Amino acid sequence: MNDVRAREGILFIVSAPSGAGKTSLCRELIDTFPELRQSVSFATRPIRPGERDGVDYHFVDESVFAAMKEQREFAEWATVHGNLYGTTLKTIEDAAQQGVDLLLDIDFQGAAQLKTSCRQGVFIFILPPDMAELERRLRSRGTDGGGVIERRLATAREEISQAIWYDYLVVNDDFTVASNTLKAIIMAERCRSHRTAQILNSIIT
Ligand code: 5GP
Repeated sequence: MNDVRAREGILFIVSAPSGAGKTSLCRELIDTFPELRQSVSFATRPIRPGERDGVDYHFVDESVFAAMKEQREFAEWATVHGNLYGTTLKTIEDAAQQGVDLLLDIDFQGAAQLKTSCRQGVFIFILPPDMAELERRLRSRGTDGGGVIERRLATAREEISQAIWYDYLVVNDDFTVASNTLKAIIMAERCRSHRTAQILNSIIT
């Protein structure tokens, strides 16, 4: 494993259509790499049972979110399923300065904003194996009605058709394979020579 403190932190941005398995895959990454920090976003949606304010999200009302937007505190923000979500510049800057790798689980719109504003991030898009499987997964959750599922499928189709600008496309057909692929991406990105050049001198001096 590289000495992660010897370089600037890397920003890993992971997006996926609902039902592609992103949440479980990100959880597995955090369990595997305890030094990888999960970004805590600001969100206006109601807190769900079992969630903790400041851990899962910073839960704020719309007026607080609007004031933060006004103060230009967000590196990116988006409306997702009717609620506002955003990542602060401070979250990203703190991690970079501390040499900590940061994992952002954010939607397609927010990722596109970061791609424009900070090109040094690593952008990963998780794909379902096909649309039929995505639909099956959404229906088997049992949390959404028919209309909602139709909307999510239409959004998924739109996002998938545009996802070519991401650095990595990972198909989540088999969870273990997809999870191992994500771990490999993280390890490979940490070894990129432009991030680790300083170790050359430390070895020969
Ligand atoms: P949930 O409310 O189910 O936790 O998340 C809903 C969606 O919002 C997910 O696709 C998640 O990736 C996205 N999301 C969470 N935090 C952020 C954020 O800070 N910015 C953006 N753009 N999307 C986010």
